[in-house]
Amino acid sequence: MIVTTSALTLFACGGGSDSNTSIPTTPEESSPPASTFLISTTVGAGGSISPTSASVTEGETATFTLAMEEGYEIESISGCNGSLTNLTYTIGEASTDCEISVTFLLTPPDEETEEEGEDSGETNLEDNLGEQKTLVALIGFKNQENKITRQQAHDLIQNNPNSLNTFIKENSNNKTWLESDVLDWVELDKEADEYFSADNYDNEKYHDDAIAAISNLADLASYDRLILMGSRSERGNPGCYAYQTKRYVGPDNHYFGYFAVMGGGGLDDDVVGCLTPGRIAHEYGHTFGFGHIFETDCAIGDLPQSLIDRHFDNSCQNKGYWETYDTMSFDVNYPLYSTIWRSEAGWLEDDQVTVVSESGLYTLTQASLSSSGTKLLKIPIGQGLEGKQLYYYVEYRKKLGGFDEEEFIAKSQEYEVLVRHTDFNGGIENKDKITYGYETAEGIREAITPLDVGQDFVDTYRNLSFRVERLYEDQEMSVADIRVSLPALTILPSYVYRFSANDDQEQTVTLKNTSDDSWVVSSLTMKGRHPNAFAVSNENCIDQPIMPQGKCEINVSRVRDTASLGLLAISINDGDILHAAELMGESLLIETEFDPNAPLEWQDYTSQYAKDINWEDAVAYCHDLSFNSHDDWRLPLIEELRAAFQQSSTPLYNITTQLWSISEPAGNLYNAYYIDGSEAWYNGDKLQKYNALCVRSQ
Ligand SMILES: [Zn+2]
Repeated sequence: MIVTTSALTLFACGGGSDSNTSIPTTPEESSPPASTFLISTTVGAGGSISPTSASVTEGETATFTLAMEEGYEIESISGCNGSLTNLTYTIGEASTDCEISVTFLLTPPDEETEEEGEDSGETNLEDNLGEQKTLVALIGFKNQENKITRQQAHDLIQNNPNSLNTFIKENSNNKTWLESDVLDWVELDKEADEYFSADNYDNEKYHDDAIAAISNLADLASYDRLILMGSRSERGNPGCYAYQTKRYVGPDNHYFGYFAVMGGGGLDDDVVGCLTPGRIAHEYGHTFGFGHIFETDCAIGDLPQSLIDRHFDNSCQNKGYWETYDTMSFDVNYPLYSTIWRSEAGWLEDDQVTVVSESGLYTLTQASLSSSGTKLLKIPIGQGLEGKQLYYYVEYRKKLGGFDEEEFIAKSQEYEVLVRHTDFNGGIENKDKITYGYETAEGIREAITPLDVGQDFVDTYRNLSFRVERLYEDQEMSVADIRVSLPALTILPSYVYRFSANDDQEQTVTLKNTSDDSWVVSSLTMKGRHPNAFAVSNENCIDQPIMPQGKCEINVSRVRDTASLGLLAISINDGDILHAAELMGESLLIETEFDPNAPLEWQDYTSQYAKDINWEDAVAYCHDLSFNSHDDWRLPLIEELRAAFQQSSTPLYNITTQLWSISEPAGNLYNAYYIDGSEAWYNGDKLQKYNALCVRSQ
């Protein structure tokens, strides 16, 4: 099925608006009663959004789920300061009535299907190698001054030591190069603000019109890549962006291929414009399938943040893309495409990428020079949810290339051993999409870190470490020796165990001894955000020696039906080694239809309820409650609470504190709904401490 995995392939890189995600917040207890705002939606043909509108309390956020008809993908979505993750659009904190606008694009079915599935890498790989016949079209708006000449555009792309072509050749070890044609200015019939203004951003119309305007001037079908290049306009700009996958564009699908838009900015603009070598290389990099380097900030307790499925994590903030010296981060630092991208593009030789299979010393040669030797170490850290191997990526950079001499000379004596970490960035729909970052021993992730000589990089959750043991010069080449210590025990088959409605509610965690020593499991402990949601259902491995190459199986059960995240911490030899298997449970609660007439018995609010407990404890408290000769108590639905206690009803009691409900927002492992006696109800972090008033159906 194509449509369910269609990610947004538009990479908008200008203006920073895509790094502006708000963190949903939990209202402070002292907040005054908040206003609510209407979030409305407009939807183009080919898909839908759910819900179609929502009433959201001031300061709160809300999520909307997109669905496409077969053959459609998301073309654009905007409004309400939102951000899109896969098919979930999360608005910023509500402060006014606003509208979400989404359009869908019909994807021609033939070649696009190759973008999906296991074969897509090979398809893209071939596309990324050899001559890239590139058409550069200078597109002007009506009544706009055109700031660069055709010759200047040609120089930027093809013709000088700083050109895009030089950069691509350098980065690809001469495996890829450009052969470009530059079309002189073509003026559109419309002025810039007819496409782009404060309340209108119609880039698809701009593409159509631009391509219609050039379709008689060039044989578009003969080009692999297309760059639409313009000048800055005070009255509206296309921005700078690229499409990562091939697509049809133009009014009659005139062009099929990869393309990038360099809409605004002159050569000498001091503000960020599109027509700088770095920005051009950045956008062109997207057309090879290179993504951004993401940095996340997830405050989720002692769960390893490395493998969190962020689809469920609305407390994770996407802080944008940034990494020193990677063209795919901020393009002002554009020395090179990272080795990861170059590896994925097929621009490194097979013997320049080493997958570490055993502990030992590995030598990295500097990534930025064309030379033999290993340019990239890939240290396996487990499997993704669909079996994709995940790695730490380690590369060594020094004396970066020559794309921008001024930029590099100042930095040329710096070295960096860079570590990245694969990470889920998706969810149910996009399980194996990955971004890169790393996790320190303290659990703080950053996009990237330089390692110093003698400094250990420790991943306590996998009992894996490495260090830069030595740096030395070998003639012109700088070389780094990396000592890698792999875990003595490996957790199989994966580091993430997902419990869903379709799974057996027991999972087997297999420990395999990959070392030459025997080990004894000394303890098994449930940790993580919701430790009480899971339990070890056999302790076979405890106190048993696991011989070299031997295995031991631990069964883990789900004991709560609520959405939850846990961590099975495995101590070996009295704590010498700690391993952790991540446990992730989707909510199994069957939606109870709320019946306002159903007779309910409540706990006595004046004396009986549980105070200051987190949500999971609240669920357990009611579950375990034996009161008034009954033991079938439960935490109430949010609708039951509202009907019984809110000001809009005739409340049983005038409550003044927060009461948890058992209701969880869809697709969110972290939050649950509660009320506080006002008109509003809230969606709050389950770790907050509120109160539990139990109910039972009579
Ligand atoms: Zn970008």
